[in-house]
Amino acid sequence: MRHHPRAGDLVLLAAVLLPLVVALPRLGWPATDAGAWLAWVGRAAGILGLAMLLLAATTSIRVPGWDRAFGGLARLWRLHHALGFGAFVLLMAHALALALAAVPLGLSVAVDVLFPPLSRGAIWLGWLAWLAMLLFLTPTFGFFGRPRYQTWKRLHLVSAAALLLALAHALPLAGEAWPWWLLGLAGLAAIAWRKLGSHRARLAYRIEAVEPLARGVVELVLAPQGRRLVHEPGQFVYLAPLDATLSAGRGEEHPYTLASAPADGRLRIGIKDLGDASHALQTATPGSMAQVEGPYGDFFGRHPTGRDRLWLGGGIGITPFVGGARDLLARGVVEGQVLLIYLANRPERAYYLDELEAIAERLAGFSVVAHYYLERGALDLAFLTAHCPDVAEREIHLCGPPAMNAHLRRLLAGQGVPRSRIHSEVLEFL
Ligand SMILES: Cc1cc2nc3c(=O)[nH]c(=O)nc-3n(C[C@H](O)[C@H](O)[C@H](O)COP(=O)(O)OP(=O)(O)OC[C@H]3O[C@@H](n4cnc5c(N)ncnc54)[C@H](O)[C@@H]3O)c2cc1C
Repeated sequence: MRHHPRAGDLVLLAAVLLPLVVALPRLGWPATDAGAWLAWVGRAAGILGLAMLLLAATTSIRVPGWDRAFGGLARLWRLHHALGFGAFVLLMAHALALALAAVPLGLSVAVDVLFPPLSRGAIWLGWLAWLAMLLFLTPTFGFFGRPRYQTWKRLHLVSAAALLLALAHALPLAGEAWPWWLLGLAGLAAIAWRKLGSHRARLAYRIEAVEPLARGVVELVLAPQGRRLVHEPGQFVYLAPLDATLSAGRGEEHPYTLASAPADGRLRIGIKDLGDASHALQTATPGSMAQVEGPYGDFFGRHPTGRDRLWLGGGIGITPFVGGARDLLARGVVEGQVLLIYLANRPERAYYLDELEAIAERLAGFSVVAHYYLERGALDLAFLTAHCPDVAEREIHLCGPPAMNAHLRRLLAGQGVPRSRIHSEVLEFL
């Protein structure tokens, strides 16, 4: 996770502000009396909220490569999440502020602002849009517990209705239509691409082998059946297996990190049994077909900083580092030093360790050390500094379960490693 703004962030910020800037000459500056001030705030909140809603839809897009302008798909979707939540709050504030602004004219006037006669259809369309938002945002923000991923995904279709209703509310009321057409079309195009077009970006692969790594973990080896995917180490793909014998997840897309080197003609994906679909993949049929969409993500970044690196991988979060180590081996050189600390519960769960140690033996500059939780407890400062005394000087990448990432971040912050030098990924989006 990098903390400086990305090029995409600036474009997004400009797009959020565009309708408000265009509307400012009409809105004027807020007057000093409370009613007029509240009315101004209400209108501004409505304009900003709608812009954020439309951009939340736009940022749901998934086009290989585009996410890197935002620091990877996981970060882009955090922005998407924040925009959706911000839109919801601002649109609520919009209605409330406009009603409060009317209170000095009488309570019935204020109520009428919120709930006018049905003939003022545009206002009611606004309420319908807000209700549609409530319907799909409630599960997204986990108000009633964590939703099932596929249910949550289907519910997101309601967002398209919210978007259309919100536009139908705003267009007759707004003075300036073109910013809304612009952002509205961008949002609708993104949704249409997700639903109708994204399959065009998929490549055909055949599952060549399913190699067991440990109990509940296999490595799929996939061979291209035409154009092959071009990727960088640490990136991930959406994999949709088509194997007719799968007990679950057939045709369903799930994100998986590429554990293969970019130079490898095959794609290799380490898959841990974490639910229905990943369980079924443990016994996928060699020879069956799969679709691969990607690559996504920006874990290692495009521009090496020239610093020595420390990689910390735990559980199935070791996969980006396996891809990284295989890439170093394929290149035959390591710039500076790379130390990988492999965090596993116990030796039998360090599934890629033999291969990583073999790479370390062959490659000067790359080393690997295993840390076992059940033997030593959580990784501590003594272990860290014994193996990596210059930790504070290194560029650090970490990937593992959320609790592990949080623990390591605290440990590293305590060593004075600036946040900007810690790049972390958690293998879940929700
Ligand atoms: C960027 C990224 C890279 C990943 N790389 C790997 C990897 O290399 N190896 C590996 O074993 N696992 C990886 N995962 C996790 C993998 O995607 C999930 O384990 C898998 O989708 C679980 O699906 P399921 O039906 O088996 O389990 P479920 O019970 O459906 O889900 C288990 C968990 O996975 C999440 N999940 C389910 N479906 C999706 C989806 N389509 N998109 C995002 N999250 C989902 C759920 O929120 C839940 O937390 C990665 C996840 C992400 C986001």
